[in-house]
Amino acid sequence: MKFNKAHYLVFCFVFLCGIGASVALLFEERAYVDSNQKAMGADFTDKLNDALRQYTLELTSVAAFIQSNKGEVSESHFSRFAQNLMMSPGVSLFFAQYLPIDKKHEYQLQQRVLLSNPNFKIFPDGDREEYLPLTLLYPDKIPYGYDILSSQYRDLESVYLARSSYALAASMPIALPFSNVMRNKQADTIILSAPVYLPLDSRVYKLTDSVGFHGIVGAYFNVNSLLNFVAPSVSGDLFYRIADVSSDEPVWLVDSTRGAAWDEGNYETHYLSVANRQWRLDTRHSVSVWSRGHWLPAILAFLVFTAIACFLSFYTRKLSLTYFSALDAVNERIEVDELTGLSSRYHIQHTLNELIGCCEKDDKQLATLILDLDHFKTINDAFGHEIGDKLLSSVSKRLLSILPDDAVIGYLGGDAFLVLLMQDDYQDRPSLDIVATDLIKKISQSYFVEGLTLNIGCSIGLALYPEFGKDAVTLIKNADMAVYQAKTLGRATYHFYDGEMGRRFARNVRIETRLRKALQTEGLELHFQPKVDLITERCVGVEALLRWEDKELGAVSPAEFIPIAEQTGVILPLGDWVFEQAFRHIKEWEEQGITVPPIAINCSAAQLKRVDFLPNLLSLLDKYKIDPSSLEIEVTESILIEDAESCAELLRQISRLGVKLAIDDFGTGYSSLSYLKDLPFHYVKIDQVFIRDIVEDRKHAALTHAIVSLGHNLNLKVIAEGITNIDQLIMLQEFGCDIGQGYLFSKALGANTMGSDPMIVALNEQEGLDKQE
Ligand code: C2E
Ligand code: MG
Ligand code: MG
Repeated sequence: MKFNKAHYLVFCFVFLCGIGASVALLFEERAYVDSNQKAMGADFTDKLNDALRQYTLELTSVAAFIQSNKGEVSESHFSRFAQNLMMSPGVSLFFAQYLPIDKKHEYQLQQRVLLSNPNFKIFPDGDREEYLPLTLLYPDKIPYGYDILSSQYRDLESVYLARSSYALAASMPIALPFSNVMRNKQADTIILSAPVYLPLDSRVYKLTDSVGFHGIVGAYFNVNSLLNFVAPSVSGDLFYRIADVSSDEPVWLVDSTRGAAWDEGNYETHYLSVANRQWRLDTRHSVSVWSRGHWLPAILAFLVFTAIACFLSFYTRKLSLTYFSALDAVNERIEVDELTGLSSRYHIQHTLNELIGCCEKDDKQLATLILDLDHFKTINDAFGHEIGDKLLSSVSKRLLSILPDDAVIGYLGGDAFLVLLMQDDYQDRPSLDIVATDLIKKISQSYFVEGLTLNIGCSIGLALYPEFGKDAVTLIKNADMAVYQAKTLGRATYHFYDGEMGRRFARNVRIETRLRKALQTEGLELHFQPKVDLITERCVGVEALLRWEDKELGAVSPAEFIPIAEQTGVILPLGDWVFEQAFRHIKEWEEQGITVPPIAINCSAAQLKRVDFLPNLLSLLDKYKIDPSSLEIEVTESILIEDAESCAELLRQISRLGVKLAIDDFGTGYSSLSYLKDLPFHYVKIDQVFIRDIVEDRKHAALTHAIVSLGHNLNLKVIAEGITNIDQLIMLQEFGCDIGQGYLFSKALGANTMGSDPMIVALNEQEGLDKQE
């Protein structure tokens, strides 16, 4: 059984669709993750901005608070205010009050009392012109008195900037600034500094510089606490790093990836302004498309498509199996003939082509035999088709049993079988002769079918590869021609195809085609050959002979085309044409006043076998008002052998009409003389092969003499045809032959020249004289 690959294709197609869908979904997920990353980054930036804005707002509120209270803010006041502000967690506030050196001592005394700390003093030590000691603190109380104008203060720069610019200043990340001790070595503290300037009216009493600078309000916080403030609302899936990029070299504040790679292009960058400083925030998603089940839809799609592909492929395979098994069943029916069980015509032709291929390769000869049963139709007609079919089946079984195992046998249909035999030896004709003879002998032995004993013969035609055909069609066609030839040779025999046969066959086919055409158009004519009384030498009749001049084939003799017309059935319309034409000429001559002796028309067996032959003849006689006595019909003796009984009756009826009958070409056929006695013939026409060498060949002379005597004894007139010279004429006259026909007297004449032919002229003159008498 054959398979096709459809199910593989279906599987591959759906599977690839699945892969496509999965990839598309992965891309979709990736796009989603990317957009999510961007959104989360932007959100984080906003939150950081908000937090820092809140810090600066808180700081400026504190500065405004001190300013509005004209610098008179107590520790408790300050703490309450800070508390009320609900400062962001992790942020510490301070106020460093301006102090010129001359007020240092007074300040220290005052603070010692206020803080209940007798050891209070401004630190770090050292005399400076101005001091900015931390005076108010919230919530971190430790660094009271730390002077942020001391050179040790790590954010001195911001102090100067805030003081000079009257604006908020931010530090770069620094370690905790109010101690020399590096409690926390990490530089992760940011200080926001805002200057406090008092209004003019309050400066007199307060500690200010000449322009009213009263101190610095600061807020410091740890980067981590800032992130703790912001990060809870930020997805843990977001990686980030923050840098102060105010200077040329970025100073990194934090990196949530803890040192993992930040590949160029796979993160988002955002910028923040923190007072005078610029921060950069890089964000990227910690989640790839391969994590957190983002791949799940893609995998699901892949699995679903794979399942569909398996199902469809399985289903397609099932369908294709059903289809191919059905196809095999049909093929088997096509390949094997149901009736005989042999290879069908189609299949054996196919096998023949294959064998030709093998023979070509192995340099072998192949014999193609067509075995055709003789007279199978008779069996069918006599016993019915059922018996006929059973006989065919028996013949095929016998063929299988008698032929060698390597022979290929097929049934061509009808009553024909094809046998293929491979032969090693090219020249081994004798072995084929033996096979064919043996086949004919064994196939012709009796069959017992349904209680009947049936006998049937067969004819065989052989065509050999490569000599006479290199493909199946040609070999079968040639074997067919050969079997036809075998049948023509008398059946129950075999015949080898040869090239000549093919050429003849081709010409015959051409003649048949052209003849059919000639019947429709023109090219056919009737000529008339006079028959002469050998005693009086008067014309006693004419024989109508067909003449055909074809545009392509030229002049074709009736001796060639009549047998073809008989084999192909063209003889029937052709015969009708001849009769109609002959009657028309008789009528024309009558009208022209030309007396023409009786016209003999040649009639083939097939014409006489027609059931409507007599009715047609009668209607023509009636149509042209012709006297039947002016008509003669010539038939060959073969017809009488084929179908003597029914033919005899017809001939009697024709004779009764007054139409005279001649037996043509006497002596060439079976020469059964019995019909001469029983049938109503008037003439016997001795075949021209006897006349041709009657003078030279004593045997032919003796035969001719005998036929003349026989004819006379049976009361028949004897006609000799083909008399070409005077010696033949004299001899025939001596034998007592009645009538002669031949070129010695006249060739066949055209219908128009009949009136001027001397023999016809003489006949008309004689006729005139007879009438006068
Ligand atoms: P056939 O009926 O025996 O006709 C006599 C043949 O001998 C004619 O040949 C004729 O031309 C030829 N013949 C006559 N005198 C001589 C002679 O002195 N020497 C030689 N060598 N031949 C002579 P054709 O016309 O070629 O006809 C051949 C055959 O064709 C006829 O033989 C006849 O059997 C058949 N035929 C011709 N016309 C018709 C027709 O109309 N119907 C039928 N059914 N057969 C026809
Ligand atoms: Mg004749
Ligand atoms: Mg003849």
